Amino acid sequence: MNAPTMTSEDAAALVEAVRDFSRNVLAPAAAAIDRTGRSATMHLPRLAQMGIMGLNLPESCGGIGLPATALFEAVAAIAGACGSTASMVTAHWLATDSILIGGSPEQQQRYLPDAAAGKTLGAFGLTEPGAGSNPADMTTRAVREGDGYRITGTKHFISNAGEADFIVVYAKTDMAAGARGISAFIVEPKAGGVRCSPPEPTMGLRGGHVFEVSLDCFVPAENRLGEEGKGFRTALKVLDAGRLEIAACAVGIAEAALAAALDWAKERKVGGEPIAHFQGLQWMLADMATDIAAARQLGLAAARKREQGERFSMEASMAKLFASEMAGRVTDKALQIHGGYGFTTALPLERYVRDCRIFRIYEGSSEIQRNIIARHLLG
Ligand SMILES: Cc1cc2nc3c(=O)[nH]c(=O)nc-3n(C[C@H](O)[C@H](O)[C@H](O)COP(=O)(O)OP(=O)(O)OC[C@H]3O[C@@H](n4cnc5c(N)ncnc54)[C@H](O)[C@@H]3O)c2cc1C
Repeated sequence: MNAPTMTSEDAAALVEAVRDFSRNVLAPAAAAIDRTGRSATMHLPRLAQMGIMGLNLPESCGGIGLPATALFEAVAAIAGACGSTASMVTAHWLATDSILIGGSPEQQQRYLPDAAAGKTLGAFGLTEPGAGSNPADMTTRAVREGDGYRITGTKHFISNAGEADFIVVYAKTDMAAGARGISAFIVEPKAGGVRCSPPEPTMGLRGGHVFEVSLDCFVPAENRLGEEGKGFRTALKVLDAGRLEIAACAVGIAEAALAAALDWAKERKVGGEPIAHFQGLQWMLADMATDIAAARQLGLAAARKREQGERFSMEASMAKLFASEMAGRVTDKALQIHGGYGFTTALPLERYVRDCRIFRIYEGSSEIQRNIIARHLLG
């Protein structure tokens, strides 16, 4: 999975290109996306041109095959420039990773090259109104009907769903089997039977739209990913990769907040001297930089395991847990260093605070990551 298919020099050059693109194209539009709530899919043509929608996929599926460590840095750069865009892109990757991990070669070739090229947009449909932290509680069902399945139920908080060409929907084929009764399906909304709410208003990542999705649709059996009952295993593997990406998003936003705080501390004068001269603020800045470096190293350590084909579930959970909580601490301190100006919408500090808050909740909350880590420790 995600085996490096390019040299480290090529990977480093690509990450540099993503950084330039993020700085020059994504960052200048980020405040307007946040203010207006315009969908970050406005960037799709440029993201597609850069190959960003397929950074996570191997070349055999039309992707770039970026090694996991470089992918971590690329995601951090995108999120540091525009959290909404990072959210939209990483949700697309949850969908394409589901097909890569759970799908047959035919399904991969049918869906992934177009998704990698940004010609189609994917969504990942696991959460329901009554089933978030514990997907085994889901009530969406897929019942055999002729040469396919009828899927009925409601998914909630599904990023990208309203604009998606395909949604990977997790549904129960056996209602009595708990998580072992969950199967995964590729649902194409244009085939009918899929209704999406308007985007749900959210505190942050306002251009990374989330939707409630009502399903009463027929899907042919060929759209089932893997065997019946194997969907949850696929979802768990997909989420391992996804959690690393959330950790990278947290590092990226925290870095942007630290950079702003450093500039401000050097410029802003109080009592005739730059506030950077105050030791209290110097220590805050030192703690912020140390926190970010620790989160990056945890993320890269997990990514290296992934690159080597080793299990990295616990490490991905540790990276997400630490990085998402770190981003809360760092963005809060960065805002504090800006004083009252940090509280205004003229500067991006309050956006950083709002955007990174969800990292402690989605793809498994901090509490769930602690449960996963403890389960690994206790065996
Ligand atoms: C902006 C946004 C985008 C999202 N995108 C997607 C998406 O694309 N696809 C998708 O499928 N989902 C998506 N989600 C859903 C997200 O993954 C869930 O919100 C998350 O998993 C938490 O589920 P919940 O909201 O139902 O909270 P609940 O499960 O109701 O949890 C409530 C509280 O209880 C705690 N808790 C629960 N169980 C335990 C436990 N065993 N021990 C200790 N504490 C516990 C939780 O940590 C939390 O604090 C998104 C959500 C948001 C807000």
